Amino acid sequence: MERAEIAHKLHDAKRVVVKVGTSSLTYSNGKLHIHSIELLVRQLADLKNSGKELLLVSSGAVGAGLGKLDLPAKPKDLPKVAALAAIGQGILLQNYEKFFGEYGVNVAQVLLIKEDFEDEERYANVRNTLSELFAYGVVPIINENDATAFRELVVGDNDTLSALVAAAVQADLLILLSDIDGMYTADPRTDADAKLLPVIEAITPEIEAGAGGSGTNLATGGMMTKVNAAKIATAAGIPMALANSAEPDVLLRLMDGEALGTVFLP
Ligand code: GLU
Repeated sequence: MERAEIAHKLHDAKRVVVKVGTSSLTYSNGKLHIHSIELLVRQLADLKNSGKELLLVSSGAVGAGLGKLDLPAKPKDLPKVAALAAIGQGILLQNYEKFFGEYGVNVAQVLLIKEDFEDEERYANVRNTLSELFAYGVVPIINENDATAFRELVVGDNDTLSALVAAAVQADLLILLSDIDGMYTADPRTDADAKLLPVIEAITPEIEAGAGGSGTNLATGGMMTKVNAAKIATAAGIPMALANSAEPDVLLRLMDGEALGTVFLP
């Protein structure tokens, strides 16, 4: 696909799911990165004003819980992590309410679990609720219901969750905002020859091999979960963009068709 055609596709996307990771919302000690949250919300409010339908998948609950309690590191035990998520989720929403409220945008919290995507009736409920929220002109803010879902059999990471959500609402575009510039041929933190891939037309074994593992200390994902999300989204016919949340006006520029980060094509 030509670059101009991709630019049009991004520009014309009406229903857009944006996922933002923990490292883009909190410092490594879990304290909120208020400025980043504010910049994110401002861009989302602007896109909403331009006529887009938006859905935000936000991580950061565990991180915010950790920051609130001043804990030195993320605990290993799942019940403790779940408890931190329960503490942090309210803090996240409180901040989203406040910042979106400043721009007159209404938001709603939706906490999902894996079963919501597996059971036909629950899946229909999710779709119906989200569709009513869109009809009300509200921005749904989604996270996994970590307080009860934290165990082995969970979606587990919000990259995957955001792709499942994008498929459920038949979004036109999924955008993952992270602390990396996009998908590289190898891990750019360890390999000086790693090159950014601006467009990925098909997820080949080489691309998967380049994704490696990892992630930061507070978040769950890494490149693997991003590739996994891209597989789910593109299989559902939805393009996925991966870009750095620290890039100024990243959302506005991406939606304007600027070549930023990596675009995975369906
Ligand atoms: N649901 C987790 C949280 O809000 C994040 C999962 C992830 O990092 O992808 O903290």
